[in-house]
Amino acid sequence: METFAFNADIQQLMSLIINTFYSNKEIFLRELISNSSDALDKIRYESITDPDKIKEQPNFYIRIIPDKSANTLTIEDSGIGMTKTDLINNLGTIARSGTKAFMEALTAGTGDISMIGQFGVGFYSAYLVADKVTVMSKHNDDDQYIWESSAGGSFTVSKDPSGDVPRGTRIILHLKEDQSEYLEERRLKDLVKKHSEFIGFPIELSVEKTTEKEVDDEEEEEEEKKDEDEEKKDEEEKDEEEPKIEDEDEKEEKKEKKKKKVKEVTKEFEQINKNKPIWMRKPEDVTTEEYASFYKSITNDWEEHLIVKHFSVEGQLEFKALLFVPRRAPFDLFETRKKRNNIKLYVRRVFIMDDCEELIPEWLNFVKGVVDSEDLPLNISRESLQQNKILKVIRKNLVKKCLEMFAELTEKKDDYKKFYEQFSKNLKLGIHEDTTNRIKIAELLRFHTSKSGEEQISFKEYVDRMKEGQKDIFYITGESKAAVEHSPFLETLRKKGIEVIYMVDPIDEYCVQQLKEFDGKKLRCCTKEGLDLEDDEDEKKKFEELKEEFEPLCKLMKEVLHDKVEKVVVGQRISDSPCVLVTSEFGWSANMERIMKAQALRDNSMTTYMVSRKTMEINPKHSIMVELKKKASADKSDKTVKDLIWLLFDTSLLTSGFSLDDPTQFAGRIHRMIKLGLSIDEDEEAPAEEDLPPLEEVEGAEVEASKMEEVD
Ligand code: ADP
Repeated sequence: METFAFNADIQQLMSLIINTFYSNKEIFLRELISNSSDALDKIRYESITDPDKIKEQPNFYIRIIPDKSANTLTIEDSGIGMTKTDLINNLGTIARSGTKAFMEALTAGTGDISMIGQFGVGFYSAYLVADKVTVMSKHNDDDQYIWESSAGGSFTVSKDPSGDVPRGTRIILHLKEDQSEYLEERRLKDLVKKHSEFIGFPIELSVEKTTEKEVDDEEEEEEEKKDEDEEKKDEEEKDEEEPKIEDEDEKEEKKEKKKKKVKEVTKEFEQINKNKPIWMRKPEDVTTEEYASFYKSITNDWEEHLIVKHFSVEGQLEFKALLFVPRRAPFDLFETRKKRNNIKLYVRRVFIMDDCEELIPEWLNFVKGVVDSEDLPLNISRESLQQNKILKVIRKNLVKKCLEMFAELTEKKDDYKKFYEQFSKNLKLGIHEDTTNRIKIAELLRFHTSKSGEEQISFKEYVDRMKEGQKDIFYITGESKAAVEHSPFLETLRKKGIEVIYMVDPIDEYCVQQLKEFDGKKLRCCTKEGLDLEDDEDEKKKFEELKEEFEPLCKLMKEVLHDKVEKVVVGQRISDSPCVLVTSEFGWSANMERIMKAQALRDNSMTTYMVSRKTMEINPKHSIMVELKKKASADKSDKTVKDLIWLLFDTSLLTSGFSLDDPTQFAGRIHRMIKLGLSIDEDEEAPAEEDLPPLEEVEGAEVEASKMEEVD
């Protein structure tokens, strides 16, 4: 016998399970049955291509055997079983990512023990009701082994000489003293009905049957005598006076006859789950409760589904399917390397696999359900699945049905809100990935806008209430609703009464790149160049005049800022701020630049190529600009003018959603302004100009400018 220490996380998990006060202990049975069902699915699948694998035990079953005298409950399956190594790894030494996540959910109060199955550690729920668990398992590739643990940090594994399991796993729960309810036939039947009704293998409960039988030989008599004695004792306990006499009489009578009736108690297995899979039934015959309990049984979810779609496709190709949307995203929805087991693929009622990537696209990785095909070959291999035409058609249909289901959900406002909170990222990923259905998915998107208040609206609603004459759909991207709400880019649009969509999810940037338009209307980013705000002739004329007037200032600003900006132009999109920085139409927005900088794995060549080329747009009506123009035309090389231009650049970096390249330099300029405000004489305070290090080397223009000054 070998002893092993549990992995530290599992050890912690087990003591949580054992020590937490938790009344809903019954879920352990569902977890163990679910494990058995998985193990049976595996061996059945393997046996399709290699029938020899079930030679030892051709039947597939799950058996539940209560034993009152031993105070044990046994759950036994003829599944794939575990080798010695499997027992050590799966039941103790290798923790899954869910172990920690589950404990966090428990301690944070966001979860309770019934969620255990979702986190992939369902086996340990056995310790809710048992103080010792014995697992005997036989895998085709190994001998029969026994795993055993009474918790406390360790388990043992030893070879089982009995060899009485032909194939599969037998789990013996040595029940805690107060858990004997799980030995009662009624309780077990109810539990299976409640949690495991839709398991696709027969669940057989060992029940006691009492039959009457006539016997006449001596041996039986002896047996019966014992029985009677016991009965007598029982009776005596109940009523001490009367029955003795009666008993004696009875005995006399029986002896005379020599033949008598004996009660015989036999044990037999009774199947306690239904056989017909729910997806084979007509949708109108299935109740909401049945869908819910089926959903729970395939997902381990503790909550009901949000919406279900049950349909069949007939014609050239036939299949039936059940698709569910959960109420919450799983804790690891976007853990990309994780295999999803969301859609179970069956072929003519036989489970084939639940991790078939070809069945549903990545962006729908939250949809759960079952697909049962009439056409696929039973012995289909993983490799051939990738090329399979039938599967491609099934996939197309599943996507179509999912979209129908989501569209149905939009009609229930509260439910849709829930759905959108949990899965909007998936929809946006869908826009990115799924060219064929892009428009349909776009219809499902919802955004806050400059006019929507707390509500979120759809593109359709936006288009329906567009201003007369408005041709485009305007949006702004940024870090949060709060950050974009007060952005200078919205100033003129807001004054004109034009609604602007807030796109504040990082994935929105990727999403609009693909979407480009909706309902024939271009999506226009209001932080980028080429924002055409239709004006009347009068305004256009005025604007042209202003442009001319400010031409010299724009030129000077470009000289000072040099390659920090592409150009400096007079703009229309701002009305309250002096200036903003816009980016080119096809380059990154400020927000995209922020996102890319935050991504550690970004490709640097891409960054230099795509990084926003900024155009400064100035507001010719703003008092700062008007004054600056005056000051600059009076003296082009005024040092304060240059300082102010840099300050305007830096502040508009910030208000336009960029970050400062050099905050220290920015602070230096602000401090100079503060001194000015406090009338501190710069020359007295600051070290002589010559002592300063060449701070602004990169900013060629300024260096040049100061040289020019010197020459002057
Ligand atoms: P999960 O089933 O979610 O993976 P569990 O903690 O319930 O997590 O089980 C851990 C592993 O132990 C399973 O993944 C499986 O490999 C193995 N296992 C558990 N029960 C059985 C069983 N009845 N037959 C075969 N293998 C089993």
